[in-house]
Amino acid sequence: MFDYLIVGAGYSGSVLAERIATQLNKKVLVVDRRSHIAGNAYDYYNEDGILVHKYGPHWFHTNDKNVFDYLSRFTEWRFHYHRVKSYVDGMLLPIPINHDTLNTLYGLKLTSPKEVQAYYDSVKVSIANPKNSEEMVISQVGEDLYQKFFKGYTLKQWDLNPKDLAASVTARIPTRTNRDDRYFTDTYQGVPKHGYTEMFVKMLSHPNISIMLQTDYKNIINDIKFNKLIYTGPIDSFFDYKFGKLPYRSLRFEHETFNQENYQGYQQINYPNDYDFTRIVEWKHATGQKSPVTTITREYSLLAEGDMEKYYPIPKEDNHELYKKYKAEVDKLENVFFCGRLADYKYYNMDQVVARALSIFEKNIANTI
Ligand SMILES: Cc1cc2nc3c(=O)[nH]c(=O)nc-3n(C[C@H](O)[C@H](O)[C@H](O)COP(=O)(O)OP(=O)(O)OC[C@H]3O[C@@H](n4cnc5c(N)ncnc54)[C@H](O)[C@@H]3O)c2cc1C
Repeated sequence: MFDYLIVGAGYSGSVLAERIATQLNKKVLVVDRRSHIAGNAYDYYNEDGILVHKYGPHWFHTNDKNVFDYLSRFTEWRFHYHRVKSYVDGMLLPIPINHDTLNTLYGLKLTSPKEVQAYYDSVKVSIANPKNSEEMVISQVGEDLYQKFFKGYTLKQWDLNPKDLAASVTARIPTRTNRDDRYFTDTYQGVPKHGYTEMFVKMLSHPNISIMLQTDYKNIINDIKFNKLIYTGPIDSFFDYKFGKLPYRSLRFEHETFNQENYQGYQQINYPNDYDFTRIVEWKHATGQKSPVTTITREYSLLAEGDMEKYYPIPKEDNHELYKKYKAEVDKLENVFFCGRLADYKYYNMDQVVARALSIFEKNIANTI
């Protein structure tokens, strides 16, 4: 007999399991259909001994001290600023676009943030209320930078013209007037010192927590006794797709190990215009691992079909409308909590999903016992 059945051993399921087990002293069963814990943040040592993120690069960053302190109970950190280059016109340029991006790309000699701002002002297109991703970008940096850095990447990533994507998708993309070439400016940045999976092992190691892997909850739900359900899987699957399937983008990864210490010199290079892949990640630059060999991963984006892994909810209005139909069904349920990127059909960064799970625990779970 369990107090809670939790579907999914990613951040959402694991944070809630940890809270319920340690703070409420309740018994929890965590079920995941994959063969491992940690959800999409899962990392492992490949056959060449390099620590690799199985479901694409996960760069941790947050300004939320509460989330950082919470996760720090289960891991030490390798503090590290994530830096990304974009391959444009045969050059490797800082992204987000900054002072150096402009000077190198256009052979300019801008000398101050004021001059950089004046440059943006001279090229940006005045649009009062940007209605889509294209308008959002050109209203910030103009047509040419949009074409070079954003249009091709968006087409590859979403298979959608930026004109057909919500303005919010690119609204968060910063452009800088200084020389700061960090990808994120958050206070806390890095990766767990011994990897994400180790952090999850510590989070879930508690006598009140049992784990069943390689198990779809639908195959066991009638055989297990439990009081409440926490669901972090896809919302449409929970309701047997009765209103139709919510679309997702999937990813294909191509890993390659080279008999050399360094391959590309950077943890991540984006390819907005050349090649079919969107980016190449070289893991050692982020993890700090020392080895005479190095592994890189090329990432290709495609529509999720059949049994393919679901990665990114597609942020379009009609998908959101479909999600709302399922959400209305969730609201009718009692003793069932939905949480996470698949259950909420919403892209969350890791810190956001931890914050959401902690808040659901405080507001909906701890209060109701
Ligand atoms: C390619 C990619 C890169 C990312 N990079 C970053 C990054 O750099 N920085 C950042 O902050 N965030 C990043 N994220 C976001 C991060 O992955 C999410 O915030 C996080 O995974 C959300 O956790 P979750 O628990 O909601 O979902 P998940 O980690 O997906 O966990 C859900 C779990 O539920 C299980 N499940 C589903 N259905 C069933 C079922 N029927 N029965 C049993 N189990 C089931 C799944 O197997 C899965 O393990 C990235 C995401 C992607 C896709």
